[in-house]
Amino acid sequence: MMSVRRNTVIHTPEEIVRIRRAAQLTANVRDEVARLAVPGMTTKELDDLAGSLIAATGGESAFLGYGGFPGNICISVNEEVVHGIGRPDRVLLPTDIVSIDLGVRIDGACGDTAVTFGLGAPMPPAVQNLVEATRRALAAGIAAARAGNYIRDISAAVEEVGRRAHVGVVRDYVGHGCGIRLHEPPEVPNFVSSMKGPKLEPGMVLAIEPMFNQGSFKVKTDRIDGWTVRTSDGLPSAHFEHMVLITENEPEILTWPKTM
Ligand code: MG
Repeated sequence: MMSVRRNTVIHTPEEIVRIRRAAQLTANVRDEVARLAVPGMTTKELDDLAGSLIAATGGESAFLGYGGFPGNICISVNEEVVHGIGRPDRVLLPTDIVSIDLGVRIDGACGDTAVTFGLGAPMPPAVQNLVEATRRALAAGIAAARAGNYIRDISAAVEEVGRRAHVGVVRDYVGHGCGIRLHEPPEVPNFVSSMKGPKLEPGMVLAIEPMFNQGSFKVKTDRIDGWTVRTSDGLPSAHFEHMVLITENEPEILTWPKTM
């Protein structure tokens, strides 16, 4: 059984085998959904498609029903930051940027990953800067995910990329431990605070997930659906997420693209 301390989870080698598989299936679904998303589809159609792809893995959605979430995956378009719900009345446009966030639960383990992509139209420079900065911040966070470092080292690496790119670093939502449950301790903020967080040790699995806004870091939740988080100024937002296993050496990106 995984050892749960007050503020961190260390997974056993047997659990890591199952977590690795769940994460890889999650990555495959992520890449298929991103490949198949085209202008003219509704976000509900994209969610249904994701549900079919998840079912085809033999697993189930780790998000559907989580805290009452009604979709198979989260689909957040443009100014939507996270937790967007597929809607039959939202038709995707070539100029949209789409963030998908999803997890496959299988054999008692689960994955969690997110990506942001455009739907074909050239992105305005400010949006391209936003998306590329968020992608780079994830890479920088992963590079800091080494045994002996602290959670704050990941946070600092992510935040620094955001600062240099002059984007808003979302503070209300953070990365997290992941693996057997979708959300496990510790929290992995995208900014430095007074909390150092736990020391990183082999066997920890972290979902590192920068969320950056083109403008203000401030966000608000939709009062009607209770889920969709949007930027307070209506400017676009981007989100990338990988699950990373802390090892004795290089971090292992469990949701790296791979064909099985
Ligand atoms: Mg996550």
